[in-house]
This record gives sequence, C-alpha cells and structure tokens, in this order.
Amino acid sequence: MTSGSRAERIAALAFDYAAQPKHVVDIGRIGALSGIREDGSAVVIGALTTHYAVESSASLKVKCPMLTEAAALIGDPQVRNLGTIGGSLAHADPAADWPAVILALGAEIRAVGPKGARTIKADYFFKDLLTTALAPDEILSEIRIPVPPAGTGAVYVKHPHPASRFAVVGVAAVLTVSGGTCQRASVAITGVGAKATRAKGVEAALAGKPLDGASIGAAAEKAADGIEINADLQGSVEYKAHLTRVYTRRALERAVERAKGAK
Ligand SMILES: Cc1cc2nc3c(=O)[nH]c(=O)nc-3n(C[C@H](O)[C@H](O)[C@H](O)COP(=O)(O)OP(=O)(O)OC[C@H]3O[C@@H](n4cnc5c(N)ncnc54)[C@H](O)[C@@H]3O)c2cc1C
Repeated sequence: MTSGSRAERIAALAFDYAAQPKHVVDIGRIGALSGIREDGSAVVIGALTTHYAVESSASLKVKCPMLTEAAALIGDPQVRNLGTIGGSLAHADPAADWPAVILALGAEIRAVGPKGARTIKADYFFKDLLTTALAPDEILSEIRIPVPPAGTGAVYVKHPHPASRFAVVGVAAVLTVSGGTCQRASVAITGVGAKATRAKGVEAALAGKPLDGASIGAAAEKAADGIEINADLQGSVEYKAHLTRVYTRRALERAVERAKGAK
C-alpha cells in the first residue's frame, strides 16, 4: 500500500480488517517460535517471545539493556504478558515501540514460508502504514540483533500516549563513541509518521563529530527532516515535529552518557 492520503490508506486498511478470511491459523503454541538465545555476537529473539519475557531477560539486561528497557515501556502488564515482539513487528503499528528499536540496532528479521526462509534487514522491513515486507504466506520466525560493540550507548525514550502508552513519539539512539568522538550513529523514530524510520540527517550530523551539547543539539534539530508527520488526535504536525526534536536530543544525551559507562 503506497498511494493515497493517510486517511484513504486507513480507510482501505479498515476495509481489509472487515474481510472474513476462510482460515485462521493459530501459531501461538509453536514452542520453537519463542525464546531468547545468544548466537555468536548476536542475540536472537523468537517471534512469539512476549514483551514481558524480553523485559525480564537477565541475559538481555547485560547484552543489550535497551531491549529490556524498551519492553518495559510497552502498554501495561497485561499487554506485555500477551503481546509478542513478532506480532508487534508484523503488525507494524505506526506508534509501536519495537520498530524504532530494531531499526536503530540494525537487526535482521527471519521470515519463513512455503518457499523456505529468508532474512530481511530491518531497514527494508517496514514499508508503509501497517505494511511490512512479509509476503502473505510468510510468518516472522525470529529477530536477530547484533550486540552493540564496546563503547556503544543504546537508549530508547518515548512520549507515551497517556491511555494506551503507545508512542506519540519514540526515539531509539545507538551511538558508538571513542575518545569523545562519535564513530557511528544509528537513530530511528516511531510514532509520528506512517512507519518507523531512520533519522539519516541526525546520523550524518553526528558521525565523526565530537559529542558535546552543541553538536547533539544541532543534530537533534534535524530529527523531523524527511518524515511525513501526520497530524491526528495526538497533536498537530508542528507539535509532533517539536516533540521529535526534543526526544531525539534526550535520547542522544542519554546514549552518550551510557556510552561513557560502556565497556
Ligand atoms: C491497550 C494496548 C496498549 C498497547 N500499548 C502498546 C505500546 O505502548 N507500545 C507498543 O509497541 N505496542 C502496544 N500495544 C500493542 C501490543 O504491544 C502487541 O504487541 C500488538 O498488539 C501485537 O499483538 P500480538 O503480539 O498478540 O500479535 P497479534 O495481535 O496476534 O498479531 C498482530 C498482527 O500480526 C500478525 N502476526 C502476529 N505474529 C506474527 C508472526 N510471527 N508472523 C507473521 N504475522 C504475525 C497477525 O496475523 C496480526 O495480523 C498495545 C496494545 C494494546 C491492546
């Protein structure tokens, strides 16, 4: 789904939701699709792993605390105990938290279907509003997340909707720092547009630069550039663009602090 205004696209999706499929397949009891494991320099999270299981994973707290922290910010305990990371990514809600996190971490998504398995880089997974690169006959089986290298600070911050806790804006920042200089920046934003997206302007503004208040502030000013921000009940385009810049600055500042403490 790539054409039409946001309202037209939502109307088309609402029509899709009203469709009555001939068959509904419950994948909920396939044990192999659930769990967290380490695989070399990556962590692998099964699609059916609940947000709570991610939040409470002792190994993820050590390997990549951004994942446990982001999970803890999702909805409420009931949502976190039932909702799954794979369901969230496959659904691709524009206000979901996981899409920004896995984009910034450079994750890969494993899809399985009748033609076999394939790997989709997170950068190519989110296509549009509630639309992903998964084919209709594929399921998402697992997410492979490279463990950030030494000297990396990875942080997710969000402005939650007061009722649902979905992200009005959510920013994931992953900064690799050496001697006070940014070696690599990966920043992704969710909540304000039709899909989560990398903030390339912010990343380019930081790469190779000394990280101080001025460089972080200037980079954060670019956070909303290139995003087609949607006005809705949560706020105007201007308000959401402002929130995006404010939360990006907060995410970058915290990522730098965390990088200083990272081994
Ligand atoms: C009150 C409330 C508050 C919430 N707050 C937040 C929040 O703050 N942040 C946030 O990010 N999310 C939030 N959510 C969403 C929640 O986190 C769930 O993860 C999300 O609704 C998906 O649910 P699920 O995992 O049960 O997937 P389902 O509802 O079962 O599936 C969602 C869609 O994805 C498809 N699907 C599911 N799994 C797969 C798979 N492995 N492969 C292919 N397709 C698949 C299904 O067919 C369906 O179309 C909230 C939800 C509720 C109800």
